[in-house]
Amino acid sequence: MIKESPLAPANLGEENGVRSAPLTPTMEGVAKSNQADTGNYFQAPIGTHDVLPPQSQIWARVVSVFAERANRFNYGLTITPIFEHAEVFERIGDASDVVRKEMYEFRDRGDRRLALRPEGTAPVVRAFVQHHPTPPWKVWYVAPNFRYERPQKGRYRQHWQIGAEALGVSDPDLDVEVVSLAAGFFLALGLGKTRLLINSMGEPDDRIKYTEDLRKYFLSSGANLGEEFLTRVKENPLRILDAKKSEWQTMIEGAPQLSDYLGDSAKEYFSKVQSGLKALDIAFTVDPRLVRGFDYYTATTFEFVSDDLDAAQNALGGGGRYDNLAQEMGGDPAPGIGFGIGMERVVLALEAQGLAEEIIKDSASLDVFVVDGTDDEVAALVVNDLREAGISVDRSYGGRSVKAQWKLADRSGATYGVMTGESENKNNSVAVKNLKTGEQVEVRREHLVSQIQNSKETKR
Ligand code: AMP
Repeated sequence: MIKESPLAPANLGEENGVRSAPLTPTMEGVAKSNQADTGNYFQAPIGTHDVLPPQSQIWARVVSVFAERANRFNYGLTITPIFEHAEVFERIGDASDVVRKEMYEFRDRGDRRLALRPEGTAPVVRAFVQHHPTPPWKVWYVAPNFRYERPQKGRYRQHWQIGAEALGVSDPDLDVEVVSLAAGFFLALGLGKTRLLINSMGEPDDRIKYTEDLRKYFLSSGANLGEEFLTRVKENPLRILDAKKSEWQTMIEGAPQLSDYLGDSAKEYFSKVQSGLKALDIAFTVDPRLVRGFDYYTATTFEFVSDDLDAAQNALGGGGRYDNLAQEMGGDPAPGIGFGIGMERVVLALEAQGLAEEIIKDSASLDVFVVDGTDDEVAALVVNDLREAGISVDRSYGGRSVKAQWKLADRSGATYGVMTGESENKNNSVAVKNLKTGEQVEVRREHLVSQIQNSKETKR
């Protein structure tokens, strides 16, 4: 479970404003507005959450499964700043909600216009343009993102994404590789029911013609759908296609489809991606209405959807090609493709599938709890020897009675309790109790590490 902060108050009129996070002289302004929301300084701000043990074990597992897989695909970890010049994110699209309404933008004390990272691709492309690595540049990341959204289950003001990007090459095989990196990640976590939707956004010219026709269609048949609809039609009619509003659905269903506007080269590229996915046995559905939130996408786009989540937040992750973004950031032309997966949503899907508890149980790996029966240094030495030998060990503190320590040992979930005692000290030994069976034996100190290690091996 994610420990949630209280949801935002009902009155979020500012959410509809052009810029919800006010431009303030320093970050204190952002902090103050959060405090005003909650009326309580000492709670995590609205829309953020703490991830605490034991649930954080799920996060650790998700990251380690991804990291291992990324390593196998030869993607290297990349870490970029949590904030960038606001212009970096403005390149992802002035018409996107993320940039227009949701960015945590501020001026620092040197009057620089900065923004907390709202998404993962732009900083990676900025780093590519800045450092000129040799293509193909294949990287992965895990990082928090910030968006001033209306908080609800699966939608937060700080959320984490784990993702990958591959820059410098345009090749359908690379699109397939990137999709398969993500698809296999869900499988490895046990989320085999995750559905993959794919589409092609075509080349920029294809999209310009399509956007014009879409705008005409929406204006002619949706004039009575209200101000928000008309604003979106004006600013970016593509963003209507994936809107969830029920009263817009009939209109959306009748809309022209981008696939009818693709030029020959975009069609050929998309068909190669599809045959590549089929060859790898990666199931997918072509969804002609899949348009992702940012303006930078070209050609292949994709999304992973889980039916375990509420329909409005059912995307576990998504991504696509962005062949012009590097150039828009002042770099040489360099195509790219990547995806971001929402960590919180993956955790929600694991919980819905009943897999989260299993991960927590699996990760509860305390081998030994040491009970100090002599109040000298021996217990600390035993703890240290075991830990340095790779065995997980805990102990109690504050000079508790032996009885109280055994109680803690029982509650700790450890496999063994190891006690130092006067008579054992004389024999240079310790008492080892199997906490599951109650069986107790005396073991010489020099054999303790190997004995525990052997028993761990046998358990495996
Ligand atoms: P995007 O960067 O908008 O393409 O989002 C990629 C993925 O991040 C989505 O599919 C979600 O799983 C997740 N995500 C996006 N926005 C949020 C949010 N506000 N809260 C939680 N997860 C999010």
